[in-house]
Amino acid sequence: MTVEAHKETLGFQAEVQQLLRLVAHSLYSNKEVFLRELISNASDACDKLRFEALTDGALYESDPELKIRVSFDKDARTITVSDNGIGMDRQEVIDNIGTIARSGTRQFMQKLSGDQARDANLIGQFGVGFYSSFVVADKVTLRTRRAGMGPEHGVLWESTGEGEYALETIEKPTRGTEVILHLREEESELLNEWQLRSIITKYSDHITLPVLMPVQKFSEDKDAPPTIEENGSIRRRRCGRGPNRTSRKRNTRSSTSMSVTISKTRWPGPTTGSRASWNTPRCCLSRPARRSISGIANSVTG
Ligand code: ADP
Repeated sequence: MTVEAHKETLGFQAEVQQLLRLVAHSLYSNKEVFLRELISNASDACDKLRFEALTDGALYESDPELKIRVSFDKDARTITVSDNGIGMDRQEVIDNIGTIARSGTRQFMQKLSGDQARDANLIGQFGVGFYSSFVVADKVTLRTRRAGMGPEHGVLWESTGEGEYALETIEKPTRGTEVILHLREEESELLNEWQLRSIITKYSDHITLPVLMPVQKFSEDKDAPPTIEENGSIRRRRCGRGPNRTSRKRNTRSSTSMSVTISKTRWPGPTTGSRASWNTPRCCLSRPARRSISGIANSVTG
């Protein structure tokens, strides 16, 4: 297959621009919802990979443990959410990220009420979640590579959310998607491990996959460099109820509960310091529990 290695700038569909403005306005006091949405997308992408791999095991490549990672870089002022799920090819990026093809999104736009808490829930329900990134970020970079395609088929999407986005073919050795949020000046408080962990714990109790964050371990000797802590175990515990994105796009999912797994694998991704390990800031519930937490979800999924 030939690689379409060009760089191009494309315009958002007019409705996407309208949606971006609406989302930014309606989510102003519920900014942290962006993390729920990106983690849900990452989880959906892992589910899709798991489903497609039922008939094509090679899609796992040499990386069978599905994971979601959240990291931040104080100097670069970025938060990164990444997964090793199905990823997207170039056309999928154009179709999924630059276009509103789904009637649900139009319904969403009609239903926006101006009540910020309610509208924030609608964002999850109708599936326009990715755009919530622009509430906290003035630029979003997405790097992705579809499972099963060669590393030369990576795609970089980047936008400031103002009408256009850039698309470029890149080399991406790992499959899956990485969303890098370049935070607005006023969102510096998000560049904080405790803050991110607490948002993840609050919103991601329906995610059954491990959500990993880097952990730095400092020696008692203050001159010694931070070392890596191999912290791979998690105790399973139940979470309290909390605001959740509703269950949708479940056609690729099994209705049975999935057990919690957590890996001891370290991931050499962006970190806040010189060396770090990854652990999970959150607890996990089975899918049926996720369904039961939202009235809307119950009515959607029956
Ligand atoms: P929704 O997730 O509700 O469909 P989004 O705007 O959040 O709406 O995402 C639009 C689409 O972009 C998703 O349906 C999916 O096809 C694609 N997408 C978003 N994030 C990812 C990801 N991490 N991996 C693969 N595909 C993704």
